[in-house]
Amino acid sequence: MQGALREVVTKHVAAFEAMEDPYLQARASDVRDLGLRILAYLQEAKTLTAPIPDRAIIVGEDITPTIFVDIPRERIVGIVSLHGSSNSHMAIVARSLGIPTVVGVGEFPLSRLEGLTLIVDGHRGEVVVQPSAEVVRQYQDIIDEQVELSKELDVVRDLPCETTDGHRVNLFVNTGLMADVNISLQRGAEGVGLYRTEIPFMVRDRFPSELEQMEIYRQQLEAFYPAPVTMRTLDIGGDKALPYFPIQEDNPFLGWRGIRVTLDHPEIFLVQIRAMLWASESLDNLRIMLPMVSSVIEIDEAMHLIHRAYLEVLEEGAHVQMPEVGVMIEVPAAVYQIKDFVQQCDFISVGSNDLTQYLLAVDRNNRRVANLYQAFHPSVLRALKMIVDAAKEEGTPVSICGEMAGDPRSALLLVAMGYETLSMSATSLLRVKWVIRKVGMDNIKKLLDDVWDLDNAAVIRSHVDLMLENAGLGSFIRPTVAQLGKDKEQDKSPS
Ligand code: PEP
Ligand code: MG
Repeated sequence: MQGALREVVTKHVAAFEAMEDPYLQARASDVRDLGLRILAYLQEAKTLTAPIPDRAIIVGEDITPTIFVDIPRERIVGIVSLHGSSNSHMAIVARSLGIPTVVGVGEFPLSRLEGLTLIVDGHRGEVVVQPSAEVVRQYQDIIDEQVELSKELDVVRDLPCETTDGHRVNLFVNTGLMADVNISLQRGAEGVGLYRTEIPFMVRDRFPSELEQMEIYRQQLEAFYPAPVTMRTLDIGGDKALPYFPIQEDNPFLGWRGIRVTLDHPEIFLVQIRAMLWASESLDNLRIMLPMVSSVIEIDEAMHLIHRAYLEVLEEGAHVQMPEVGVMIEVPAAVYQIKDFVQQCDFISVGSNDLTQYLLAVDRNNRRVANLYQAFHPSVLRALKMIVDAAKEEGTPVSICGEMAGDPRSALLLVAMGYETLSMSATSLLRVKWVIRKVGMDNIKKLLDDVWDLDNAAVIRSHVDLMLENAGLGSFIRPTVAQLGKDKEQDKSPS
């Protein structure tokens, strides 16, 4: 019965999606919604609006980041998603909240899991259904060990992040939900390196007004004041859809994404910048960052609009300073134009999640090719080194805010390359600080030298793992979000 329903709904959804009229096209999501509701009745399952039991594990076909707004975080102890990979945005948000998650499970008997006991092993990318008492005991031991480890990590909370020979590294956080703010402050974040503004847009059913945006941004800026908060302008497209602004494309990651959308819709961009500026009144800890930039013309156009918004709010009586504006380096073309880009902006920040996807031509959401998504790929490492060298030559501050910054293994390589600011999920922060405080600059520069001429990601990663094991730091490199089985090789994001 459920299979037949799915077939019929899929057919109708495709028919609506093929329509030319954008209004009718958008009705596809209504049909999809209706289908899901009928399915919920058929399975006698509770919908997400029904009360969620304590210690729930959310299992779904394609879970999106909006789940974290609909459901009280404290009730969720695990997530299993049939689609996606450990680099998709839902996985990134789950990681930032420290929820064990397994993604890209593929075939899974969704309809038969209601009420069963599951174990979600985010370290190894495994889901155990109806575990025996012995298996539960073994997992309880692992959980106890993790609790002990967190206590150990708490010790470094108020200590500076510096190597044993006094080299200082700034540890910033990536945020999106309000829940991230508390975790970040508890972990001693030094500022926000990436606030993903699209997340509050994704959980609404229409564009938030200037006033609504202003209130949301003000909360972030106030929470971290006087530390800087880097707000990225709306980065939709790719795997981040707004239900009320559908984008239908065959190749969404190479399509209308990030700055491309907002420059085509200056009215959306201007409202967002105005809201950011008003929100920073009398705080002045705002920095603005542009996503998915691939040419200087985009920076020019964006700067023009930012200045226009700034003059507008000044005329309207706002007391704000012009914020610093930065550019994300996420597209291979940008890697070769750092020196041109930095003429137009105040700082750059590497989005290594997308940079890896585009350098290696591997869709970050596709579980089939997830084993080819390799943060330790020699070409990725060389690009990262080129970026930091070029920025430093020009005297422009450079940071990195992709998931690589939150993996202690890649974080060490980044510090050795010369990155002085790492921005990561709050849940990774103490782990990264702990490991950095255990190593000397000389050791990690030698490590970088050792892996520099190696020609493949697996060997480079093993080399770094071995160094950490030998230094007694091995227990800090386990992830909480992984892809079922296949993802073990390249999962790169402990938290
Ligand atoms: C990135 O691409 O590395 C990044 C930080 O942005 P996002 O993951 O939101 O695309
Ligand atoms: Mg990105």
